[in-house]
Amino acid sequence: MQATSKAEGSGLGCPAAAMLDRLSSQITLASGPHETIAVRAPYTGAAIGAIPAGTVADLELAMQRARAAQAAWSKCTFAARAEIFLGFHDLLLERQDEVLDLIQWETGKARRHAFEEVLDTAIVTRYYARRAEGLLRPRRRKGAFPLLTRTREFKSPVGVVGLIVPWNYPLNLAVTDAVPALMAGNAVVLKPDVQTSFTALWAVDLLRQAGLPPDVFGVVTGDGPLLGAALADRADYVMFTGSTRTGRLVARQAAERLIGCSLELGGKNPMIVLADADVDAAVYGAIQGCFASAGQVCVSIERIYVHQSIAERFLAKFAERARGLKVGASLDYSMEMGSLTGERQLRHVEEHVTDAVAKGAVVLAGGRRRPDLGPLFYEPTVLTGVTGEMRLYAEETFGPVVAVYPFAGEAEAVERANATRYGLNASIWTRDTAHGAELAQEIRAGNVNVNESYAATWGSVDAPCGGRKESGMRARHGAEGILKFTETQTVAVQRLAPVGVPDGMDAKVYARWMTRLMKLLRRIRE
Ligand code: NAD
Repeated sequence: MQATSKAEGSGLGCPAAAMLDRLSSQITLASGPHETIAVRAPYTGAAIGAIPAGTVADLELAMQRARAAQAAWSKCTFAARAEIFLGFHDLLLERQDEVLDLIQWETGKARRHAFEEVLDTAIVTRYYARRAEGLLRPRRRKGAFPLLTRTREFKSPVGVVGLIVPWNYPLNLAVTDAVPALMAGNAVVLKPDVQTSFTALWAVDLLRQAGLPPDVFGVVTGDGPLLGAALADRADYVMFTGSTRTGRLVARQAAERLIGCSLELGGKNPMIVLADADVDAAVYGAIQGCFASAGQVCVSIERIYVHQSIAERFLAKFAERARGLKVGASLDYSMEMGSLTGERQLRHVEEHVTDAVAKGAVVLAGGRRRPDLGPLFYEPTVLTGVTGEMRLYAEETFGPVVAVYPFAGEAEAVERANATRYGLNASIWTRDTAHGAELAQEIRAGNVNVNESYAATWGSVDAPCGGRKESGMRARHGAEGILKFTETQTVAVQRLAPVGVPDGMDAKVYARWMTRLMKLLRRIRE
């Protein structure tokens, strides 16, 4: 790893107080005093600002305002809504530097990884702005009786969607699920993570500048367990992204209230490198897949299975690339990996590696904190010799750490890739892409990328992106990513004759005719 700049003295600056004040004014606050929570920059450990510690009264107020605003919002045309989001899209691209700085200040990720958030947010916003009307338009359905019953299916908004998001993709996760919810005519109340609230507020502020009525998208900041639980107690639908542990709590609350919820949770994502893979391409893919955002991505690769015939070559190149990555704090595009985001996350990563090494794992690259770069830096780390009794074998690490295992046969690789309680993302490398796509269907994960680590499925926003097993329920993106924010209504108009026995007709005659009709219909190809 190339040690580059120290966090201090590298021109990192800090957000302007006027901007933070403006962003704080976007928060819904009930009257009365509020405590504040300091937000620290992972690069330096210095406080960059403070956000109000919201209360249940604030959340209640945001919900009331959202409910009141939703009625008018749901009556806007799709075209009017789309214009606002396309305007937001343009402003986002124009003013990306502001939010890139903010994302970096709050998460400590490298700018190239912050830019992924801008790009993805623009792509998803454009997709739903253009496609929502088609996905939600009323559809004709076959009626109870041909010609006599005219049946249509309508999609209506659920009401107010509660959006709970983590700190790792603060722009992207605050916006890309909100846009389909809003395009469907819902209001949204967002509870961002304490660490990254300013980025979320920047996005909400920009949406308001693009014309979104303020109360249609409310934000309350503060303690996660307090406000998250209060939101799940009041919303008409909960869109949750975060850990599997918290996801279960949210699902329990939703079940109790008989409301819908969508859960995007953790992963322990495998990559399989087959014997015929292009080794250089697979090494590049592994670097992106394991170390983007310092491994703090739900779809990050944490396990690599390499065919034994190429394992030595792959490992030598991969470890060398990992050791050579430019890691450091910088608000330009010069760094290839940034810092971890929080002390808790850093300790968790360190515990996983220390435990593995103590039990016999071999460190081929990294394996250490780097306080010389900043308080929360950890080296890109490649391990071999990882076994079942080590914590990182099966637990999500959520950091720049990957274990590499050789395998002898494809069936073994698939079995080991599937031997996890998670099922979010997987990656297969091979020159035979048709075979790779076939093999993908044997992997029990919601997303499988062939010759990519995660970006191909994630970026295919017309297709659903979600997790199986303990990685979640439902999906974002595509039709499913907007239909889940709606309720279905069937309207059937009956003409000329009733569905049951017509008035004055003998029931026995009716039954005989209907039986004949059923037999006839059975013969007709519908
Ligand atoms: P977390 O579950 O601790 O927190 C997520 C959010 O839930 C935060 O906003 C938090 O304040 C809030 N929260 C905390 N307690 C709550 C409660 N009792 N009720 C409701 N909300 C509550 O997750 P984290 O550690 O901040 O985030 C990292 C995790 O998120 C990782 O496991 C990662 O894989 C996962 N993640 C998944 C996706 C995905 O799309 N599948 C995307 C990003 C992150």
